[in-house]
Amino acid sequence: MINRIKALPPPQNTDEDDERIWPGDRLGRFTIASAYNLLCGYCELAVDDMWNNIWKMEVPERVRYFIWRLRYGRLPTNKACHPWGHGAPYCGHCVGVEESIIHVLRDCPLAHDVWNHLLPMQTRLGFFTCHYHSWFQHNMLNYEKLEGGNEWRVVWAVTCYHLWLWRNKETFDYEFVRPRYASQVIHHYVENYISAKSSSSFIMDKARININVRWEAPRNGWISLNTDGAVQHGVAGCGGVLRDYQGNWITGFSKFIGTASVFNAELWGVYAGLCLARQRGINNIELQIDSLAVVRNLGDDSLGSSEGKSLVRRVRNLFQEGLNVRIQHVYREANRVADALASMGCE
Ligand SMILES: [Zn+2]
Repeated sequence: MINRIKALPPPQNTDEDDERIWPGDRLGRFTIASAYNLLCGYCELAVDDMWNNIWKMEVPERVRYFIWRLRYGRLPTNKACHPWGHGAPYCGHCVGVEESIIHVLRDCPLAHDVWNHLLPMQTRLGFFTCHYHSWFQHNMLNYEKLEGGNEWRVVWAVTCYHLWLWRNKETFDYEFVRPRYASQVIHHYVENYISAKSSSSFIMDKARININVRWEAPRNGWISLNTDGAVQHGVAGCGGVLRDYQGNWITGFSKFIGTASVFNAELWGVYAGLCLARQRGINNIELQIDSLAVVRNLGDDSLGSSEGKSLVRRVRNLFQEGLNVRIQHVYREANRVADALASMGCE
């Protein structure tokens, strides 16, 4: 806990008011339990698990994104839209039955029919009787292969995606007709994606070019600042080095941060490096970092995630105080010195 506090930059007058940065309980409210879970890292772990499961699935990006929405029950079904004044909560096919997510994707006869063609006989009973969250969890973690070789969770995800797609097309396009052999459409979709992916990775392999990467000196009159952040065995450190246009070492640093994410450790590196440069009276700085996320975050106007907000604000303040900084993204191989200093900071 102390390490977590150590990793926070000390408050300044330019900071905005405090705000809560974790989701709270299921309904978004503050509770002692939600704060306690956050401190113990429970919610992060739970999210990460399913996050990895979803993003590693062999399906197109749009299907993954759809499944991510399903995970949190974020679909604009009639039942969900009704309280906002958008029509009746009922299914367009079933009389007097509310259109919830589980109804559209499983219980509606239209969906039922599709599943019956896809599900192996012995799994049908359990599939149709469990509650929404265990249904989601159970199918997402079912890696079993079907007869044709397709993984069940992939077939499940693609089917859910299509059931929702067809439901929308039916609602908004009066000429749309659901495919007669839906299960075939789904199997083709899965197989086409897998074969397209393997052929595109073949093409990418062919096109790979080797480039020699090394540290590049700054222009005459400028100083390069390479920084990096690292997290090892749960503790974060950062480090950096200032060099002139001939590659001569001016100064370097290595700093222990505490408990922080890699992203925050990278930001700490940038902030500490720029402060050091300013102390030395250096104004023209080529900042070289290997984290694309940090380069993007510092390059646009947004303050980015709440996690790094206060550090990003401090770095921007330094820019405004007269530091002339050019930000460059470099390959990790060109940032080895800073990387080693950051690792030392973790010890
Ligand atoms: Zn229905």
